[in-house]
This record gives sequence, structure tokens and C-alpha cells, in this order.
Amino acid sequence: MSDPTAVSGDTWLAPTRDLIRFIDASPTPYHAIAEVVQRLSAAGFSQIDERDHWKVSPGDKRYIVKSGGSIVAFEAGNRAPAESGFLILGAHTDSPNFRVKPQPDISSVGYRQIGVEVYGGVLLTTWMDRDLSIAGRVSLVDGKSHLVSFETAVCRIPNLAIHLNRGVNKNGLVLNAETQMRPILAMEMDTSDKNFVARIAAKLEGQGVKATPNDIAAYDLCLFDTQGGAVGGADAEYLHSARLDNLASCHASVEALLGAGDTRDATRIVVLYDHEEVGSRSDSGAQSRFLLSVLERVAASYGTGDQAVARALARSMLVSADMAHAVHPNYADKHDGQHQPKISHGPVLKINASQSYATDGPAAAVFEAACQAESVKPQRFVSRSDMPCGSTIGPISAARTGIRTVDVGNPMLSMHSCRETSGTRDVDPMIRVMKRLFREAEIPAPSN
Ligand SMILES: [Zn+2]
Repeated sequence: MSDPTAVSGDTWLAPTRDLIRFIDASPTPYHAIAEVVQRLSAAGFSQIDERDHWKVSPGDKRYIVKSGGSIVAFEAGNRAPAESGFLILGAHTDSPNFRVKPQPDISSVGYRQIGVEVYGGVLLTTWMDRDLSIAGRVSLVDGKSHLVSFETAVCRIPNLAIHLNRGVNKNGLVLNAETQMRPILAMEMDTSDKNFVARIAAKLEGQGVKATPNDIAAYDLCLFDTQGGAVGGADAEYLHSARLDNLASCHASVEALLGAGDTRDATRIVVLYDHEEVGSRSDSGAQSRFLLSVLERVAASYGTGDQAVARALARSMLVSADMAHAVHPNYADKHDGQHQPKISHGPVLKINASQSYATDGPAAAVFEAACQAESVKPQRFVSRSDMPCGSTIGPISAARTGIRTVDVGNPMLSMHSCRETSGTRDVDPMIRVMKRLFREAEIPAPSN
């Protein structure tokens, strides 16, 4: 694919520029799903409905959207899943941010503000003094939902001037999420000022959707940073963007599915979950039946008998892709000295004895083999023994489905910041390794 933004000499950045386009188009999980659907549709995937009876044939390319923020896409294998299994790439569509409260209008000393709720593990200070906008999904009383985005910087969470907070650089900035993170939206100029729902109705109208404030039943709206992704660093090695965790892994998984080549025996699956950042407990999160239900229905539709599902799951593997902590030069002691993944040095295999990452030896070997086949050298992450580690959809999906799982991800700095940093040289290798997995992975026997 030609890259319109490329200048001569930087064609190696084309995968990064495509990732930037993907993330910029995806300010919320709902927008991310719309972007994924667009890419899948352009490649011949068609939507199926959970409510219908499915008839799946070898080579079929289908996707199922769940609750607006999650999706499973699959390319049905040449052989039945009971005989050749599922090869699954998984990631999550959500990122820590702020969500607009249902009755958000706040008036304070001449400012119009909106009440917001913290979603996930937000690094609060990083949202200060950013040019923020609002996007998400609006649900009308007629039963329809619409994506909406204000696009421009309609709100901001201003820092307090240092003159009014003299000790801040010594004591650190401690913020109260209820009282000190309220964005300003406008000045109160007269009594005709619009309330927030009226502004949403006007925005919908601008998008061609006729709706009065009374028609708006509910919304799921997020704050986002209007600054787009950018390549940085003296040698163009860094990618600075919002939501790298974990839209970078969503992008890699989808590009791998679209570029993996001819259908093979195993059924290829990509699952992208919402709600990872808040524990995955929802109808469409990794704790839900969503993935398992799709796997059951695809396995059953090949007519391989009453044990088809159990046999298929036993022959399957999940690669859970989520961003990894690169070693930070100013805080290198936060990493185990033997395990310090570096940006632009390749994908990271994540290991944790307490199973916060699902990786085990045979699963790691499958990923390592795909890396070797692509001449990519994986790095390894294990957290310090005196520090707890994060988790992913990997262990949750593994427990839910019984499918052997490996946790991987590209290295990054500033995880959960409003604006994060990863490596431009890591974008293409991860996509190539994922394609290789889709083409050639040998799934180990479950008894190993
Ligand atoms: Zn993540």
C-alpha cells in the first residue's frame, strides 16, 4: 500500500504511519471498532449477527461486534477446528481515560464545567493542560446509537499556577479525581448558554442526525487528546501517541489477519476486547462468554460430532498482545537488571510465575519459533521479585476457554499516560511475527 504521508527516505516508517492513522481514527473503543470494521470490510469480511443461526464454511471471512466496543473476526480454516484448532490473536480496545458523567453540567465561578469519572488506571497529571476533546456513543430513545466526536479541543483540565502551589515540585502533584480533574468547557456568558446534552444534540445535528436533547437517552463519552500521533527522536525511533496501550496491538493483530495470505487448516481469529482496563468483567470483556461462544459455534458448524468444541479448544492457542514496560533510563532500577526490554529492540515475551501473564514454556516456544523465522529477536520481561506486575486479557481468556496462551507485546514508556511512547522499529516486526504465527504456528499438544 502506498503511503501518502511518506517522504523520500522514510518508507520504512510506512507501518508506523498506518498505525498513527489507526489510532487517530480511534479516540474511543467504539471508534476503534468502526475503524477495524472498515478495514475488515475492505478486505472482504462480512458481519454476522449473534442472534442468527450461523453456517460457516472453509474460507469464510466474518466478524461479530459485541456491545460496540469488542469484536471477533475470523477466517474459517480449510479443515474443521476439531482437527486443526483455532489460532487466536487477542488485544484490547480500551485505554484509561475520563468518562463524562450522566448529569455533567457544573457551574463554578463563571465557568461551565463537566463532571467526569476516571476510567481505568489513569496517570492523572498527564491529562492536565492538554487540548482535550470528547467522543463516544450516543443512544437515542428510538433505540439507535450513533458515534459522535467533537473533534476540536472543546475542553481542558488546567493546572494550578506554580505561584499558587509553591511546593508542587518538591511535594509532587497530588490530584483529587472528583474535585480537581473537572474540565472547563466554556465561560458562562448569559442565560442562553447551552447545557451539555444540548451541545451533544447540536453535534449530532451537524453529523446529519436529527435529535433534540429529549431524544438523547444516554451516552458513553470519553475525553481524548486532540494531538495526533507523531514520529519523534533524533533517529525517528520513537512513536508518541495516545492509546498505544493497546491500540498498537489491535492494529498489529488486524493487519496480521488481513495480510496472512492463503487460508490454512487452522481457523484464524482476532479478538479485541473492551473493558480490559477495568477488570474485563462485562458482557463483552475477556471474562465474558463472547469469544468462547464464537469458537463453539464455528467448531460446531463443521459437523465433526458432539466433541467438536472440546477437541477444537484442545488444539488451539491464543497470543495475547498487550504493550510491555520498556526499561526507563531515569528509573532503570524499577526493572529486574536481567530483564530490561528496550524500545525498538523487538517484541517482548511476558512471564510471571504467579500467572498474571499466561505464558508457559511451550507457548513461549511457539512465539520464539515465529520470531526466529522472521529473523526477529524477542526480548523477555519479568517484573522485579519485590514488585507486583500488571496483567492482561491473557490469563483471563486462558481461564475462560482452557486455551494455552502466550502473553507478548511491544515495549513502551509512559504506559497509561495521556500521551505514551513506543518504538517505530517495533511496529513492523510484530506484524510480521503475527502473520508468521497465522501461517505456520505448530500448536503444542495440551499434555505438554
Ligand atoms: Zn493494556
